[in-house]
Amino acid sequence: MNAYANNLDLLGPASRSFLAQKHRLRIGGLAVASTGDETVRLVDPSSGQEVARTPEATAADVDAAVSSARKTLDGGPWSRMRPYERAQAMCKLADLIEQNGRELAELETINSGRLIGATQLIDVEFSAHVLRYMSGWATKIEGRTVDISAPYMPTGDFFSFTLREPIGVVACIVPWNVPLCQAVWKLAPALAAGCAAVIKPAEPTPLTALRLADHSLEAGIPAGVVNVVTGSGAGTGARLVAHPGVDKISFTGSTATGRLIAASAAVGFKTYNLELGGKSPVVIMPDADLEQAIPAAAWAIFANHGQNCCAGSRLYVHRDIFDKVVEGVAGIANAIRLGPGLDPLSQMGPLVNAAQQARVLGYVEAAKREGATVLTGGDATGAPGCYVKPTVLVDIRQSMSVVQEEIFGPVLVAGRFSDEAEALALANDSPYGLGASIWTRDISRAHRFIRGFKTGNVWVNVHNVLDVALPFGGAKNSGVGHDLGEQSVLDHTRIKAAVINL
Ligand code: NAD
Repeated sequence: MNAYANNLDLLGPASRSFLAQKHRLRIGGLAVASTGDETVRLVDPSSGQEVARTPEATAADVDAAVSSARKTLDGGPWSRMRPYERAQAMCKLADLIEQNGRELAELETINSGRLIGATQLIDVEFSAHVLRYMSGWATKIEGRTVDISAPYMPTGDFFSFTLREPIGVVACIVPWNVPLCQAVWKLAPALAAGCAAVIKPAEPTPLTALRLADHSLEAGIPAGVVNVVTGSGAGTGARLVAHPGVDKISFTGSTATGRLIAASAAVGFKTYNLELGGKSPVVIMPDADLEQAIPAAAWAIFANHGQNCCAGSRLYVHRDIFDKVVEGVAGIANAIRLGPGLDPLSQMGPLVNAAQQARVLGYVEAAKREGATVLTGGDATGAPGCYVKPTVLVDIRQSMSVVQEEIFGPVLVAGRFSDEAEALALANDSPYGLGASIWTRDISRAHRFIRGFKTGNVWVNVHNVLDVALPFGGAKNSGVGHDLGEQSVLDHTRIKAAVINL
């Protein structure tokens, strides 16, 4: 453990001053108090200290946010901005995110426990990159001309075409594991398509979404286009999803919540994309370059403290190299230095909160009872804060909960296989289908695995490379639809067919 007691000693002046404010919702371009009194306590997971409170948005607050968003559309100020003007405002928002990067990264770290290097690289820099890429699509949304036949009107002479219109008000529901980045993944395609948004950040990590709304205004995006309602999932989140003024739900979070959202959306025939949980396999063949594969397998699970939807949480290694690979991964796990996320010496921070820490340790205890062996880690550090040591479990069976269920923490399960068919069968033996990687120097074998993995994303000799130009989505219980890429912009449009009688 590092010497610093907690993150609060290490905060810069901008984030310190923002934290000290009384936090309000962002509705119609204003920071407004909730109509209710309930608040959510935000805690620094490296110390357990309260750092701020945010309102639990009521039904009236959600209603006001959705109405504000609606007023910017249908002849409102956002719908009157030309695509190029939308693109310029999005690029300005990207600039502002970078210019305020240190504050945003610190707020993210204090809230989520993640390393400052990661919050800077992903939540700040990648978010700016996503906004700039998506701004390019604002000027490239096209319909088609269609030569129609209408055989029941033999004398008709028509000009027909399709146009893509903004789908309307989008509810962006965001998890806590990469909060600002996930909010921007949702917001950027919505803005490019000309939609207005109501963002519902996760309970423990709402602060950067509030700043995102502030910077949106500064960037020239009209008041009411980016609204933020903070609060619990079952309360504020469910109210937002059920609101009749919402046209689309863009959700990232757990599979269980995804099911509730799909059911609620069906009532109002709303469209949705659901980016859900994962239990992604990493398969290492005997011909792999082990100097690359061993550290990559370790960081596939331990990056972001295992709180990654695509975390490589199941490692399958050919039996001839199993001991070497697993000992290598366990050695790396042992050497990882745990500490507060703002300390530059830390290599892994605490988990997001005490509930998540207890959940992760509960899975390890269950695995031990079922006969798994803890090769390294498996417990908390003993220091204050929600730390869990990087953990490697062996002697596993596919039926164990630790193999089948998403743990969302730094816990790796490692098993052996004898041939390709067995490796693929083990990899696909999961209710999830988000990502999978294969490590081999044989190009034909790589292609066989690319085809064979039942997942939305596949990587060869690397794990978890996501890019804004590539669609990102899951198969099976990992989701419906996509974030990122051209498709995510088109999914925020509605096709209208037009016929002119000439
Ligand atoms: P979660 O499902 O508990 O919460 C996600 C968001 O949904 C939060 O904002 C929460 O407040 C809200 N919510 C909860 N219940 C709701 C309801 N009934 N109605 C509306 N909103 C509701 O998930 P989490 O614990 O915040 O995040 C971790 C999960 O997210 C993991 O399962 C992880 O795999 C998944 N995730 C998936 C991706 C992906 O792209 N596939 C990316 C990151 C995280």
